[in-house]
Amino acid sequence: MLQVVAAQRTRDGAGVALARSIGSRALPMLDPFLMLDEIRSDRAGDYIAGFPDHPHRGFETVTYMIDGAMEHRDSVGNHGLLRGGSIQWMTAGRGIVHSEMPKQEGGLLWGFQLWVNLPKRLKMTTPRYQDIAPADVPEVSGSGAHVRVAAGDAFGAKGPIRDIIVAPTLLDVRVPANATFTHEASSAQSAFAYVLDGGLEIGGERIQIDRGHLAVLGPGATIVARTGSREGRMLLVMADPIGEPVARRGPFVMNTDDEIDQAFADYRAGRLTDG
Ligand code: FE
Repeated sequence: MLQVVAAQRTRDGAGVALARSIGSRALPMLDPFLMLDEIRSDRAGDYIAGFPDHPHRGFETVTYMIDGAMEHRDSVGNHGLLRGGSIQWMTAGRGIVHSEMPKQEGGLLWGFQLWVNLPKRLKMTTPRYQDIAPADVPEVSGSGAHVRVAAGDAFGAKGPIRDIIVAPTLLDVRVPANATFTHEASSAQSAFAYVLDGGLEIGGERIQIDRGHLAVLGPGATIVARTGSREGRMLLVMADPIGEPVARRGPFVMNTDDEIDQAFADYRAGRLTDG
């Protein structure tokens, strides 16, 4: 039986309205994925407060924008603008303090943030960013669908994200009406599909999964997604699990509670980002 999770409405940052699927009570994590948040609103009041300065340690944050613009700045001097179609892969490693703020006063803001865990041996690695412009995300046709390959390899295209530790495949897949899309996931992988638009029947079950819902796909599954009379769009994400203990509190994800306490102590002392 396919596990389907409805994203839960919540607020985070300085009051941004978002829908959380992974990281919610129904699905606390899907190793190595720790959190999946969707922001989608054309009401400025839902997003304008943004995510002012805050820290991270021990994992990676992946931001995938569909529409609108977000500006980011951090404690080591990086600064950039994320527009619709772009992707940012931030390896927080031992620590970073950054802000993520909407760069618009109105109109649709639609994007995702996925948290990907790091294995113990790399939790304290040097922070690193990869900012990928929309034009650098390959778009291919695969199994009858239009696929943007944001990370990983699929349908003969190679995504633009380089040298990351846990190397997920992240695909933005649009399946035309009345079509069947199939994709092979390798045997050990954790995989999920998050429906962005339209409805899709995912897996062998003839149950339509609507937008805002996440389907957990079995390891080694051939992913099958069918549409009805409308186009369906989904994020399809897979990676090998890390299989280590996870201790998490707020913006820090480590292996033990002591390491979390240390992260808070380092942050309070202004030492989070010290090498
Ligand atoms: Fe952040």
